[in-house]
Parts: sequence; structure tokens; C-alpha cells
Amino acid sequence: MSDSLWLREARALDRADALPARVDVAVVGGGIAGVSTALHLARGGTSVAVLEQRHIAARASGRNDGQLLLGLGEHYHRIHGQFGAERARQLWQFLADNHEALRAELATAGVACGLHERGGLRLAETPHEWSELQEASTLLAAEGKAHELVAPGELPRWLPGSVGFHGALFLPGEAIVQPVEMVRGIARTAQSAGAAIVEGASVSAIDGDAGDFEIRLGDGRSMRAAVVVHCTSTLARELDPSGLLVRTVFPFRGQVIATDPVVDLPFPDHAMSSNFCYEYFRVSRSRFVIGGKRWSVPGEQLGILDDSSHDERITANLLAYVHEHFPALRGVPFPHVWTGIMAGTPDGLPLVGALPGRPGTFALLAFNGYGLSFAFLAGRCLAEAIVDGQSPHPAMPLFAPRRFASD
Ligand SMILES: Cc1cc2nc3c(=O)[nH]c(=O)nc-3n(C[C@H](O)[C@H](O)[C@H](O)COP(=O)(O)OP(=O)(O)OC[C@H]3O[C@@H](n4cnc5c(N)ncnc54)[C@H](O)[C@@H]3O)c2cc1C
Repeated sequence: MSDSLWLREARALDRADALPARVDVAVVGGGIAGVSTALHLARGGTSVAVLEQRHIAARASGRNDGQLLLGLGEHYHRIHGQFGAERARQLWQFLADNHEALRAELATAGVACGLHERGGLRLAETPHEWSELQEASTLLAAEGKAHELVAPGELPRWLPGSVGFHGALFLPGEAIVQPVEMVRGIARTAQSAGAAIVEGASVSAIDGDAGDFEIRLGDGRSMRAAVVVHCTSTLARELDPSGLLVRTVFPFRGQVIATDPVVDLPFPDHAMSSNFCYEYFRVSRSRFVIGGKRWSVPGEQLGILDDSSHDERITANLLAYVHEHFPALRGVPFPHVWTGIMAGTPDGLPLVGALPGRPGTFALLAFNGYGLSFAFLAGRCLAEAIVDGQSPHPAMPLFAPRRFASD
């Protein structure tokens, strides 16, 4: 298995919890979605256990680029174009609310996770993308959303040492983190609030009905729960007997490469990307970390569930991008490479809420590549939906799984 830099340097949970006999809510999957849901449920007094096959943040949540983004990576005018003005505003507000709630939680709980709140730089790969960024800026300005348009001539000040970009949009609300430290920090906070976090618990079947599910593990153990929440991304769709997850959620694989620490690395602590966020990069402890280019190989890594291998052609294409845009990194080795599996949906929005046709079951998954930026608040909204029947956040109807119900 090829672990990410983040997984190799992060510390494990301080405490291993045993499998409880019975809880109110069983959360299957211990990525950011699972631990966020568990934290908010436990804080509200619900008994909850997270059942995680490997260890917390072992999959996508520990293998990403650690960027906390606004707009699910899309330029704002494109969100308007796809969803319409009102829903675009709701979506943007949801992400802004997520960041505020997440930052407050990390500060209150004292989670040390390399959070740098220095904003994000969306770079234009082509003159065409620059014109789109200007369009996005016009809309952001009209709606009073904080941003700054960076003309091509100003780029040396914003991103010293970069070559070949055509301008940028700066979003001060974006940030970067060490994702494994962040997700395990949330998991520890959930434990303190009373949640059981059970690692090495691979769920193989969910029998029974709402109020009394039997959750069976691959090693023969089992647990009972009144409610089940699927937080398994695209990795265990078959556990949902309604068939909605198999029908709707699809996997795709991202790849990241990284240097060891480089002396005098000139790049700022921004979340950075270009080419409509298809290529994304940042600095971490003087290492340059970059992912993307999945579109540069046939098949675009769609349908792949294996994150123990990588594609050498993508590595070569990422290196070519680095050498083109950052001459200072020519000749610098990139010894670290890893992949992670993401989950997509046909409309590009996550699934958050009750699974239709299967009372007592809920889902929080399929973030289309941006779950680190979305799942904390979504976990709180889902906890509200489970306990109170609905969440007051106005964006929640956008994410209802029932939009994909077949009948
Ligand atoms: C290369 C890459 C770069 C990315 N960059 C960013 C970024 O910069 N910003 C951003 O916002 N997002 C980014 N993402 C996306 C983000 O990482 C994901 O959207 C998010 O981590 C998904 O979280 P999750 O909890 O749904 O899934 P996961 O983290 O995949 O968690 C699912 C968990 O379920 C467990 N599981 C599976 N089957 C079972 C079972 N049968 N029983 C028990 N447990 C099971 C798995 O072991 C896993 O831990 C990136 C992703 C990748 C791969």
C-alpha cells in the first residue's frame, strides 16, 4: 500500500474503542464524513459508534491535497450556470458556513492540524480561463463575496517564481490543512463527546429493519443499532439494499506527488489550483505537493477503486506541469506518490440525508472530490435530520438522496 505523506506523519488515535453491543446510531466509515456525523450526534446526547474498516482517515480523507475550498472547486459563474442563482448562493453559503463551523471547532478543541488561513489562488491556465475568472469575479462582486482579481502583471507578487499563468482569482475564505491530523482531531473530539470509534471493523452486511438493525462485521462480530448512516464514500455501495448508492455513486481516482523539504521554496501558504481546479497544489512544511492530471490519461481514472497503486503516465504529466510553471523545481525529485478514491454523482452534488425506501438508513457521501471542504457542517446537518427529522440549513434540500429515487 502506498500511504500519503499525511498518513505517514500523523499520529494514531490515543484510544482504541471496543465494539459496543448496541447503539442508537451506527456510522459506517471513518473518513471526515463519518467522524463529523458522530461528533455532532454524540454532542447531542445520541449514543453512536463509528465502524471503520481500517483506521481513521485511511482512504480519501487521508489522501487528498488538504485544501478547504469554496464553491466545490468550480468557478462561481459556472455554479450559477449549472444550478441557477438562488441555489448557487445557497451552495456557496453552505461552504462558507462549513468553514466557519470547522475553524471554530478546531480552535475550541485545540486540534493542531497545520491550518493556514491564507486564502486560495485560482490560477488561469489559459487566456480563456482568465476571461472566465473575470466573469466569476463580476458575480462575486455583485453578491458582495470577498475576493480579489489578480491581473497577469501582478502574479510575480502573489506567486513568485511561477511562469505561464494568465491571471488569478484570490478567495480569502479558503485555507489549507494537514488532513489526517484534522480528521483524527475531529475523531478524538467525538470520542471525548461520547462516541465510540472502532477501527478494524469492516462491515459486511446490514440486516433487520429501522429500530433494530444488525450490523455484521467480516470477522464474525456484530452490533445492533436503531439507525445506520452510510459514510463509506463509493467503497461499500452494496451495503445499501435500496440500490440507490450502486445506481448513483461512481468512483474515480486522484493522484498526488510531493517533494521532500526544499530549501527556500518561494511559494505562499495558499490553497492553489489551475485549469478549473483539475490541477491543485500547495506547500506543506517546505514540501511542494501537487495533484491532478487524471484527465490526461484515457478513461480519466473513472471506475478505479484501487488506491494501492498509481499511474506513471500521470506522474510524468504532473512533473511536466511543475517544470513548465515552476522552473525552480526543475531537477527537484518528487519521491512521494499516492492515490485516493473519490465518489461522484450525476449532478455533482453530495448525498446528505435519508435513503428513500429504506427507513432508518441515511447517507453522507459522494462529495465529487471536495468532501474535506463540505463534510463537517454536513455531518451536523445530518445529525439534526436524524434526531429532529430535518435540518434548518436552507441548502439541505439540494443534497437530498431522494432526488435520485427511481420511483
Ligand atoms: C487526490 C485527492 C485530492 C483531494 N483533494 C481535496 C481537497 O484539496 N479538498 C477537498 O475538499 N477535498 C479533496 N478531496 C476529496 C476528499 O478527500 C473527499 O471528498 C473526502 O475525504 C471524502 O470523505 P469520506 O468520509 O466520504 O470518504 P473516505 O475518506 O474515503 O472515508 C470512507 C471510509 O469508509 C471506510 N469503509 C469502506 N468500506 C467499509 C466497510 N465495509 N466497513 C467499514 N468501513 C468501511 C473506508 O475505510 C474509509 O475510511 C481529494 C481527494 C483525493 C483522492
